[in-house]
Amino acid sequence: MVIHRVPLGESILRPRSRCPQCGAPIRSRDNVPVISWLVLRGRCRDCGGRISPRYPLVELLTAVVFGVVGAVSGLDADLLWELPFAAMLIAVALIDLDHRIVPNAILLPVAVWGVAASALTRPGELPELLAAGAGAFCFLLAAALVHPRGMGMGDVKLAGVMGLYLGLSVVPALLIAFLAGSLVGVGIVARHGAAARKRGVPFAPFLALGGLVALLAGPDLIALYRDRFLS
Ligand SMILES: [Zn+2]
Repeated sequence: MVIHRVPLGESILRPRSRCPQCGAPIRSRDNVPVISWLVLRGRCRDCGGRISPRYPLVELLTAVVFGVVGAVSGLDADLLWELPFAAMLIAVALIDLDHRIVPNAILLPVAVWGVAASALTRPGELPELLAAGAGAFCFLLAAALVHPRGMGMGDVKLAGVMGLYLGLSVVPALLIAFLAGSLVGVGIVARHGAAARKRGVPFAPFLALGGLVALLAGPDLIALYRDRFLS
C-alpha cells in the first residue's frame, strides 16, 4: 500500500484501502495480509475484479524478510529499528523500480525514527551511526557527481539513511550494492547493447540488497575482511 500510494503523494492513513476497479472499500476482514487474497482468489468481493498478486507477494516478501531478521538477530529491542529499516528497504527498492524515485516522504521519517530508536536501544553507538550516515551520504554524493547518469539524489539520501541504521556495516552494504549493480549493468550491455545501459538502471534496489545483507551479516563481513587482509 505504501509502495502504491507514496509516489502518488497520497496519504497512507486515509482513505481506507479500496478496490482499484469498483472503488468499494476493503472490509477489515478482507484486509488480512496474503490470507485474504488467497481466500478471495485474487478477486474483489464486490465486483469480482482482479486484484494484482503484487500485493500478497510484497506482503509475503516482507513477512519472510522480517522472519529472517528476527531469526538471525534475535527477538530483542533491536527489532525496533531492524524491522522498520528492512521494510523501508523493500518499499524504496520497489518504488524505484516502478517510478525511478526514492521518496523523501519515506526517507525522512525513517531517518528520524532510526536516530530515535537507536537512542533508546543502543545509545553508545550513536556517534558511529551518525558518522556512518554522513560518510555514506558524502561518498555517494561524490559518486553521483562523477557519474551522474547512474545515480540520483534519492540514492545519495538513501545511502545516508542506511549509514544511520548500519553504522560501519554500511561499508559492506555499499560494496555489495556497487558490485551487484555493476554485474547487472554488464549483463544488460551483453544482452541488449550499450544503448540499453544508457537508459539507466535504478540503483536503490541494489542499495536495498546491500542494506539487507549488511543488516543480517555486516559485522561478520567486516570481521572476515579484517581477519583475511589485515592480520
Ligand atoms: Zn471491486
